[in-house]
Amino acid sequence: MIEEKELLDKVLEMGAYKTGLVKVSDIRFERAFRDMCEANACGNYGKCWMCPPDAGDIDVLIEEAKGFQKALVYQTVGQLEDSYDFEGMMEAARVHNELANSLRQLFDTLPVSKKLHLGAGGCHVCERCAKLTNEPCRSPELAMASLETYGVAVSELAAQAGMKYINGENTVTYFGALFFSE
Ligand code: SF4
Repeated sequence: MIEEKELLDKVLEMGAYKTGLVKVSDIRFERAFRDMCEANACGNYGKCWMCPPDAGDIDVLIEEAKGFQKALVYQTVGQLEDSYDFEGMMEAARVHNELANSLRQLFDTLPVSKKLHLGAGGCHVCERCAKLTNEPCRSPELAMASLETYGVAVSELAAQAGMKYINGENTVTYFGALFFSE
């Protein structure tokens, strides 16, 4: 049995800006996010084993995510000098991914029957994904897909978890979530 309040507090202590717990049955999933991935605005499409199309069929991933009971949602907020501050965005992403990596170790200790940790953007475990040289994933046990890859409507998820999707001028907000069943 998970002590949920204790877990949420621990995630805050480790560096999240806010945390919240959502029932997976309340989360909206949207197949259309796959079209956005295919438009390749982020440049990761086809360049990471954990991004589309290699991450898998959207319907299969949505069904997998729907098979969990709850989602522990967390967010990080980075400060930017202005809305063109690309370096600031990269630094905020690095901080978020570092937190996600630390949280993985915490989540591994939880007494849950199954879990799925989803993050922001592509997998950031390796400096360069092995997909770029068409080699097998180097660390499948650590590899992490994004919430969007699983079709999660993240802006709605934020509201459901009691968070803002956007946290003010000159900030960038990233999300992650642990889907789990007790
Ligand atoms: S663990 Fe490394 S090789 Fe595997 S998906 Fe992530 S970045 Fe790519």
